[in-house]
Amino acid sequence: MKCTQCGSNDLINTMNLPFHVSGDARLEVSKTDIFICRECGHLEFFNTHYIEKLKEQERQHQAYIEEIMQIKSELNKLDTIPFDEVYYQNKIAELKEEIKTLERLRVDGKSIRSREDSIKDYEKIIKERKDPRIESQKNGLKSRLAELDRNHRRIY
Ligand SMILES: [Zn+2]
Repeated sequence: MKCTQCGSNDLINTMNLPFHVSGDARLEVSKTDIFICRECGHLEFFNTHYIEKLKEQERQHQAYIEEIMQIKSELNKLDTIPFDEVYYQNKIAELKEEIKTLERLRVDGKSIRSREDSIKDYEKIIKERKDPRIESQKNGLKSRLAELDRNHRRIY
């Protein structure tokens, strides 16, 4: 090790000196190696623990940013998917066929009513043009975003 001030190689590790360090480094000062130059008295501070912690925070922050960008792009992609009306029209047609069969077989009204309810649900979906399959994906992504945000605020 070399003194950055005078270039001397004569440095000694001196621990437990009553240095005052403020800011974020304050709590870490106990883990800091402090060397003093025996030529000029210059002090060199080393804290590999602290710098590793900072690097880990940077890594986490980077991972957080990347995941947020990815989720936002997935959300944008979902927004561009056109509403699939045919899918729900087919569902309704299937149910209507089933109802016809059930009526022919004189099955009790409960099975028929549950299908009529499903038809109403599908008609509502078509009217609002909001696909619940897509909405549930969007909600999943949004709650992941909120969770990321909470975790991030806990760290910083
Ligand atoms: Zn020196």
